[in-house]
Amino acid sequence: MTSNGLFPFTDEHEMIRQAARDFAQNEIAPIAAEFDESGEFPSHTIMKMGELGLMGIEVPEEYGGAGMDTLAYVLALEEISKADAAHGTIMSVNNSLFCYGLLRFGTEAQKQKYLRAVASGKHVGAYSLTEPMSGSDAGTMRTRAVRDGDCYVLNGRKSWVSSGPVAKYIVVFSMTAPEKKQRGITAFIIETDRPGFSVGKKEPKLGIRASATSEILFEDCRVPVENRLGEEGEGFKIAMAVLDAGRIGIASQALGIAEAAYEASLEYARQREAFGQKIGEFQGISFKLADMKTRIEAARLLIYSAAMAKERSKKTGERFTLEASIAKLFASETAMFVTHAAVQIHGGMGYSKELPIERYFRDAKITEIYEGTSEIQRLVISRMESGLR
Ligand SMILES: Cc1cc2nc3c(=O)[nH]c(=O)nc-3n(C[C@H](O)[C@H](O)[C@H](O)COP(=O)(O)OP(=O)(O)OC[C@H]3O[C@@H](n4cnc5c(N)ncnc54)[C@H](O)[C@@H]3O)c2cc1C
Repeated sequence: MTSNGLFPFTDEHEMIRQAARDFAQNEIAPIAAEFDESGEFPSHTIMKMGELGLMGIEVPEEYGGAGMDTLAYVLALEEISKADAAHGTIMSVNNSLFCYGLLRFGTEAQKQKYLRAVASGKHVGAYSLTEPMSGSDAGTMRTRAVRDGDCYVLNGRKSWVSSGPVAKYIVVFSMTAPEKKQRGITAFIIETDRPGFSVGKKEPKLGIRASATSEILFEDCRVPVENRLGEEGEGFKIAMAVLDAGRIGIASQALGIAEAAYEASLEYARQREAFGQKIGEFQGISFKLADMKTRIEAARLLIYSAAMAKERSKKTGERFTLEASIAKLFASETAMFVTHAAVQIHGGMGYSKELPIERYFRDAKITEIYEGTSEIQRLVISRMESGLR
């Protein structure tokens, strides 16, 4: 099902979906288990994704991207994540968290210098908001940036940076006026070869293990004023606007994982026999499959609808926060529901590393946590609906 009647899909969309699907199934799926086991960053396939235009899908061609729209982005990300969610994370961070922020808030010089390199897939980009003592509540961050002439001097420790160990450039959020809390946060584009910057401990993870995640450290790291993204104090606004885009990506990642788990379960239910019949003929199993399919198709509609809201916002400037949060909340909980059921349908084989089902289950969980937990999505949705702050 593609929901073609409801959304303006074109031949171009079908083309990118097919290209992403072919690449994902032929080149990513066969190596996914090995990279999950080793936890190694899949540099080779990520480089090829850059060559295919998958690392800067919505970035205009003049800045090195593919110049396509949000529907193209969600279709491609779904296909990549269906083969391997870790590749999906790397792609999503690069497209949404780095490129979208630069495109929307960067100066022309910043776009030429940093966006072009990352959108074209030449280098990997990352985004660093979280700290060991500051996650959902970004206003409590401790990293400081103090102005000193033409530079800011950064000190502090950021945690959970996806692609942190391999990124060439990272958008980093730091306090310039701690007394102002959220309004005292400023964003910077950091070159990771800058003195005073270092990569800290690697985060050991349950899932998406091939996406490199680490702490990053700043010790008297001097960053020129021209590396500031937006104005002083605009960091929180930028961080949240970027997450709106990111959440649509994570919803697509969740959908990809759920689809992979569903399709494997359907196939298994058709083949596996117990008590003299196919297990898919037991109502206990067939109703599970019906619930999985229903939630997947509902998630798909919410994602396409959020993608359309983001497209409209390019013309009207209207926010798409609500649509993005709803899509992320529903799709991530769908991924958890579907992968949980998939393990059950596969019985003992669902628990075995000989099949990818247990990996789907582990990978699905992250979509309920990063870029705003499910609780934070409920907070955003309820506040926006009630008008209360
Ligand atoms: C694999 C991975 C990759 C990540 N990648 C990145 C990245 O690239 N860049 C980046 O900046 N961050 C990244 N993160 C961090 C991630 O965004 C945070 O972990 C997440 O936002 C939650 O923050 P926290 O872990 O500090 O949890 P906390 O904020 O401490 O929350 C703990 C629990 O309390 C709940 N809670 C908190 N506040 C409320 C509230 N007001 N109402 C109800 N419940 C609440 C939460 O929902 C959660 O259940 C990543 C995390 C992981 C695990």
